[in-house]
Amino acid sequence: MKKISLVIPAYNEEINIPIIREKIADVFNSQLPQYVYELIFVNDGSRDNTQQVLEQLASEFPEVKYIEFSRNFGHQAALKAGLNHVDELSNATISLDCDLQHPPCFIPELIQEWEKGYDLVYTIRRYDVSESFFKKFTSNLYYKILARLSDFQFEKGEGADFKLYDARVISEIKKNHESDLFLRGFTKWIGFKQKGINFQAGVRENGISQYTINKMFALALAGVTSFSVKPLYLAAYLGLFFSLMSMLYIPYVIYALVTKTEISGWASIISTIVFFGGLQLCILGIIGIYLGKIFTQVKERPLFIIKSKNF
Ligand code: UDP
Ligand code: MG
Repeated sequence: MKKISLVIPAYNEEINIPIIREKIADVFNSQLPQYVYELIFVNDGSRDNTQQVLEQLASEFPEVKYIEFSRNFGHQAALKAGLNHVDELSNATISLDCDLQHPPCFIPELIQEWEKGYDLVYTIRRYDVSESFFKKFTSNLYYKILARLSDFQFEKGEGADFKLYDARVISEIKKNHESDLFLRGFTKWIGFKQKGINFQAGVRENGISQYTINKMFALALAGVTSFSVKPLYLAAYLGLFFSLMSMLYIPYVIYALVTKTEISGWASIISTIVFFGGLQLCILGIIGIYLGKIFTQVKERPLFIIKSKNF
């Protein structure tokens, strides 16, 4: 019998956990009776009763496993922890969100594509009307920028962590020790035979989205900078461009010198200083981000700390 693992990061999801467990059980019982499965919930330092709910469920259902973090380490870390702990005997793993925005009714389709021979089946999200214009706009813009800055083409709407990974892909992910892992990019980079399927995202059933604007911005920045060094090249090109541009100024300086015309222009000097001051700080910042990454990587600080688990 083939085994499927399901990895579900959960942060303050006490209400959603029993619901998603039941939905997944329904899907497997009715449509996928030929598979066994395990559910790995990663409690990412929740402040509500998520942990109690998980312990209760685990005592009731043997397929329910949980990993409890010592604090909130973020969605990507939770996902990585879950994938790291997938059973060695599992044939495929599916990651999905706890809030039912990744509807379990698409699991059979993911498995079907995997059975056809695809190693990584990702999902392309078709937006429904309920999603805010701002979120749609920012995520589209983000993937455009990401495609530009990295050499990988992301499809519009792709990228949610609702994916199926073959055991071979999982073993590659387990080997990864990046301190600043950006899984969505990593799974693109990894290669293998990949296939995308469309899905209509559900509406978050209970609770609120845990991704604040700050977290979204941090994820976006982590995505670009852990995936590509092009921003560093950008700094170099900008520097080159402006030093070439400044040469255009030399003939005028000579002209002013020869004709002894008074060089006025306090305003232009100040604005130039301010502009280049800002640009230099910005570029220093970019270099700083990469330096920070090297710093945390060199320290080999773990991505997450596990407080308890039941397996
Ligand atoms: N999540 C997490 N840690 C966090 C934030 C979120 O484990 O710090 C989980 C959350 O429980 C959910 C998934 O990650 O299962 C996606 O989070 P959310 O629904 O808040 O994000 P959105 O759907 O708005 O992108
Ligand atoms: Mg969500």
